[in-house]
Amino acid sequence: MAETEVPFSTIAIIGIGLIGSSIARAVRERTPDVRINAYDSNEAVRTRAVELGLADKVSDTAGDAVREADLVIMCVPVGAMKAAGESIAPALPKQAIVSDVGSAKMAVARALREALPDATIIPAHPVAGTENSGPDAGFASLFHGRWCILTPHEGAAKANVDRLGDFWQRLGAKVEIMDAKHHDLVLAATSHLPHLIAYTIVGTADDLEGITQGEVIKYSAGGFRDFTRIAASDPTMWRDVFLNNREAVLDVLQRFSEDLSMLQRAIRWGDGDTLFELFTRTRAVRRSIIEQGQDDARPDFGRVHE
Ligand code: NAP
Repeated sequence: MAETEVPFSTIAIIGIGLIGSSIARAVRERTPDVRINAYDSNEAVRTRAVELGLADKVSDTAGDAVREADLVIMCVPVGAMKAAGESIAPALPKQAIVSDVGSAKMAVARALREALPDATIIPAHPVAGTENSGPDAGFASLFHGRWCILTPHEGAAKANVDRLGDFWQRLGAKVEIMDAKHHDLVLAATSHLPHLIAYTIVGTADDLEGITQGEVIKYSAGGFRDFTRIAASDPTMWRDVFLNNREAVLDVLQRFSEDLSMLQRAIRWGDGDTLFELFTRTRAVRRSIIEQGQDDARPDFGRVHE
């Protein structure tokens, strides 16, 4: 394919929230000749998408949005993928590629296959996001320098996988191909467990007898506030992630509980060496993340201290 030739001429975005609207903005900025059709089941979101000029056409039905598309991207919560798939089924063009951005890949692949048994489906997950949701929360640079993981099934045509990879690279993402099961395990460790821990920490501090909520907020700069960003993430999205990546999350959680018990023992028995060795190892992980351009190198996430 020639460098200038865009891989798809009309894309349909189903679900115009944080991720869907970010894709729309990025496509507009990076590949302005591509036509964007969009649909969301929430009427207020559709109205807002029109006001923000996110698409060439915002349809009132999912079928109308996909009718002329050669790429359809499902940007709805993981638990809504099957219903969203069924809503596009009658109007989906034969040659269209259906993809998605869901955070759990095995369950989404299954849901889309059930809804669209004859379609060409190539699941994907851009590992990029924020704690905000909705069409106002998106921005064009969300995917710059971030990984987008494609999890095609074994028999998927390489040409189609390459086309989708090309699409994501044009939005600024780096593309990796991965088996869906492995994706779910990796993300359980790097994303799902951290969210579960953040939800727990913030919930526990909020519930603790003996300290007031005012104190929790007042002294949050001690570390707590960094967890609150993650714990402010969308409840629907995260409920669906845990319900749809259950096995991998429970595996990683079991391992985490054992490691936490080990730390508990080290603190109880005054075993400073164990604590020091672990904290030294974890510091090196942070350095690697910065070296690989996956976070801001400035201390305290670059917050301004005046
Ligand atoms: P969001 O901001 O809440 O947007 C999702 C939109 O989809 C909402 O407007 C929702 O409407 C709509 N919707 C729900 N069911 C639908 C259906 N059947 N048909 C059409 N529209 C429907 O969510 P998001 O953060 O963009 O997340 C979307 C997907 O991206 C999820 O699968 C998530 O796992 C994945 N993802 C998220 C992040 C992140 O950081 N947020 C990162 C990577 C991947 P209602 O509001 O009425 O439900």
